[in-house]
Amino acid sequence: MPELPEVETTRRGIEPYALGQGIVGLVVREPRLRWPIPEDLPGKLRGLSVLAVRRRGKYILLDTAAGALILHLGMSGSLRVCEPGHPLKKHDHFDLVLANGLCLRFHDPRRFGCLLWTEADPAAHPLLASLGPEPLEAGFSGAYLHRQAASRGVAVKAFVMDSHVVVGVGNIYANEALFMAGILPTRAAGRISLPRYERLAGSIRTVLAASIEQGGTTLRDFVNEAGNPGYFQQTLRVYGRAGEPCRACGTAIHLERLGQRATYWCPQCQR
Ligand SMILES: [Zn+2]
Repeated sequence: MPELPEVETTRRGIEPYALGQGIVGLVVREPRLRWPIPEDLPGKLRGLSVLAVRRRGKYILLDTAAGALILHLGMSGSLRVCEPGHPLKKHDHFDLVLANGLCLRFHDPRRFGCLLWTEADPAAHPLLASLGPEPLEAGFSGAYLHRQAASRGVAVKAFVMDSHVVVGVGNIYANEALFMAGILPTRAAGRISLPRYERLAGSIRTVLAASIEQGGTTLRDFVNEAGNPGYFQQTLRVYGRAGEPCRACGTAIHLERLGQRATYWCPQCQR
């Protein structure tokens, strides 16, 4: 599933080609995504220009003078930049055709992605309005997490993966950040001190920033067949390492399902 770093890499990948470009058309081959692409959208977009390419959580926002496109990659979606005449693959559901002779082509085998339109402030859209702060921006801190967690009994791992608390902390990143902060994933969110939340906020930023930085290395290949950013190879400390020795102390990494999600920790380093 594309996580925040992959979405940010996609945003950075399309921005140089889409920003400032006129929209020539929207070619929809399969409107039945998670929510249907509005039937009147191609007519609404024609003649507008892309004024900004932004990201909020895992949504990509393309601003125009009349409204904004809200795009989500879902479970299996990807965007690439190509010429509209480039041979189609199965599951290439729409092309946003630009005045520079290129298009943004959306590919999504499982069709959990979406392309929606709003004429109001996208931040107020029902999908975005209740999202927590961006982990890499001001407003996200240990103090913020500590405040939000006050007297909550939910496990800290589920707490930081809740997009109402903070966006973009997917399962791999939550496992890794909790290890780096030395915090047991099952510990109640409301029973963790401020200094420990400060460490956790820092480690969340570190794992996400490292992944985005690695994604940057795929950008030069964005305009071709292989230009879909995939999972970034990161040196994982605990994720996927059940039974293997902890990189810090040598203790075998423990694996347990927590709220359906694979949860890894070092019984020695995390408490
Ligand atoms: Zn350890």
